[in-house]
Amino acid sequence: MPPNAEEQKISQPDMCTTGVLFEADAETIDGGLAKDIKHLKHAEKRKIELVWFNIIAFAYLYVASTYGIWLLFTAVKWQTSVFTLFAILFSALGISGGAHRLWTHRTFKANLPLQLILLFLNTMAFQDAVYIWARDHRVHHKYSETDADPYNSQRGWFFSHIGWLCCKKHPDVIAKGKGIDLSDLRNDPLIMFQKKYYMILMPICCFLLTTAIPMYCWNESFNNAWHVPTLFRWCLTLNLIWLVNSSAHMYGKRPYDKTISPTDEHFLVWLRFGEGYHNYHHVFPWDYKSAELGKYSRDFTTYFIQFFASIGWAYDLKSVSTDMVKRRVIRTGDGSHNVWGWGDKDQAKEDMEETTITHQKDE
Ligand SMILES: [Zn+2]
Ligand SMILES: [Zn+2]
Repeated sequence: MPPNAEEQKISQPDMCTTGVLFEADAETIDGGLAKDIKHLKHAEKRKIELVWFNIIAFAYLYVASTYGIWLLFTAVKWQTSVFTLFAILFSALGISGGAHRLWTHRTFKANLPLQLILLFLNTMAFQDAVYIWARDHRVHHKYSETDADPYNSQRGWFFSHIGWLCCKKHPDVIAKGKGIDLSDLRNDPLIMFQKKYYMILMPICCFLLTTAIPMYCWNESFNNAWHVPTLFRWCLTLNLIWLVNSSAHMYGKRPYDKTISPTDEHFLVWLRFGEGYHNYHHVFPWDYKSAELGKYSRDFTTYFIQFFASIGWAYDLKSVSTDMVKRRVIRTGDGSHNVWGWGDKDQAKEDMEETTITHQKDE
């Protein structure tokens, strides 16, 4: 969300009341987002205060994970490799489907069992408690590319990727963070439970379980279990999610809004659990797909939500109409969005011919 958007509040019916969960300005008639906001993007020059505990922890993590990669190809049992793959996929879902799409943006609702699953996976991913993650992320959306943005990409790739965790926060992040409405999370007993007991729950879910399961279930060695499904898995998921804050704010196209920094980067989008369509996401953050229809075939998170919707555990999935997307692309897109959907005059003939149309009406 662009930093000036908070000036343009629109009341919308049937929306969550936190006020940070949707781009209120997405439909402004005055073309608010078309104005140049470059001057608002900035990073004040300041003395960085390093947090040495985190720097040393990350240094250990990277060295240990590199050793983990070597073990993965030379020493671990096949069961450990399969387990690691699933642990990567599912713990990342705890961030993309849980902390991000469910709790930060409220793009859908989940029943209690699904909330418990997502909370467990989220704790396993160890990216701080949902409450803290959602607060930082809401500030990121509301004050993107300013000093109040915790992972301000104006400070460069390294800062927005991992650097922000290696130094003290800019005072603006703390000040604006206090102003963000988190009442929905504060009133959620599960979220507050996770926050309160995080330092007990997190070591169990992120470190103990993923080390103990391979050791007790198929006699894996401690060395392998610690370095592969535990440390390498954690390090990889951290970096995949961080890429959304770094690369997805720098490299790629801006089909929906050229005035903001977030980009759509199709390359390796499946590796980012569908969070690579970041220009779309910053424009329509309340869309549970985090992408346009038809463009999320590699999005594991969307499939996960849709599966649980099909059995009734996820419900009230919010999305954006093609018309709304189209209006926005015309108004603020960078021109890289060239096909609207079925029937667009620019749609390739081959694409139309090779499209499968199911559930057709009998003539
Ligand atoms: Zn972003
Ligand atoms: Zn987001």
